[in-house]
Amino acid sequence: MRVDDHAHVFTFKTFLTRAAEADLKVRLMAWHLSEAAANDAVRLAKAVLLGENADVRLAAFAATWGLGGSPILEFLRRGCLPDIGAVTDALMADTATAAEEADAAAVLLMMDVVDQDSTPEELALYETQFTQTADQAERYPGRALPFVMINPLRGNAALDYLRRGLDEGRCVGVKLYPSLGYTVTDPMIPKILRACQDAAAPIIMHCNDAGFCGPGYDCTYCSPMDWQDAVADYDVRFDFAHFGDHTKGNAASDTHPSWRDFITTLMDRFPDRVYADVSYQSGPLGTPEEREAYVAWLKGQLANEKRGKNILFGTDSFLIFLATTARNYWDFFKTALGDDFNRIAVENPARFLGLPAAGTAPDPNTALGRHVAYLRERKNAPDSRFGQGSAPAGWLAGLL
Ligand SMILES: [Zn+2]
Repeated sequence: MRVDDHAHVFTFKTFLTRAAEADLKVRLMAWHLSEAAANDAVRLAKAVLLGENADVRLAAFAATWGLGGSPILEFLRRGCLPDIGAVTDALMADTATAAEEADAAAVLLMMDVVDQDSTPEELALYETQFTQTADQAERYPGRALPFVMINPLRGNAALDYLRRGLDEGRCVGVKLYPSLGYTVTDPMIPKILRACQDAAAPIIMHCNDAGFCGPGYDCTYCSPMDWQDAVADYDVRFDFAHFGDHTKGNAASDTHPSWRDFITTLMDRFPDRVYADVSYQSGPLGTPEEREAYVAWLKGQLANEKRGKNILFGTDSFLIFLATTARNYWDFFKTALGDDFNRIAVENPARFLGLPAAGTAPDPNTALGRHVAYLRERKNAPDSRFGQGSAPAGWLAGLL
């Protein structure tokens, strides 16, 4: 089973707090859009939330800014879809096509962008996102794999999502996003890491100097240097997303390792636990020379006995549409790696996610074991949506 280890299915309706809006604008400007065009994109999203027709607004937006045919239109279109089920259908269709197998899977990473100033209405958006995303696991059993975002800026209420996500089996892992405004020293971090250790649940942490990082935030909060002790102290599988990219480890020194290089040294220290994913990096999206240099570097890492087992394929769909299509991103890695592609898309993700070998059941006391029990229960529920998106994944055969 080929896996996209890094994808998102939120809608603007379940995501667009004021804090997220500021981030989104920065993000739009970082790639293709002028400030005026970014403002217009945010206006478009809000108008659709108030009931305007998305297709009409998108056509006008494309004409105004000369963006006909740009993948950014697909980014905005997916964000404007009425519910997370529709975004997931688009993602799973892309994934099966690009993976060239019906049994492909995707990790669904939730996004909870709130801060101390968020209103009760804004805080409530994530509840809808959490519920709708968890529903996708039921619609695509074993193929849509939700990771619950725990945002300490929400206060102790965030811990309830840990309980409903991991203890009750709706999710198979946890997503962290420190650059939203918290550091590794936040008192909630040990609780999250302990819960993940106890449930054998993997963590995916945003790790580059871009992403959602708007006014007042500090991207260095997700520095792998800062997180190395936490990784050492807890027996948790930890994916540094975007492989840290070329983010400088020390702005004042070119000889200091980049985040990417520092992560590879962590893989050498903790080969069973430290992973990195290749989603949304600058190399694969760069010039022909940058792409060539990236492929040479990636092949070098895959040739390394330890590091080669810890690299995960991911796209960052549908955010990747800010730069290119998800299909193009898959094709880049399939072409560059040939037969080795299945190492990052099949073998390594199975280890990271803790998927059981064929014919065996996961430990019932793990997040994955509880997820299987949750799917079994939902399969027989009167209001079940079980399998409405696709048949259960092959790894669930005999477990439900
Ligand atoms: Zn992402």
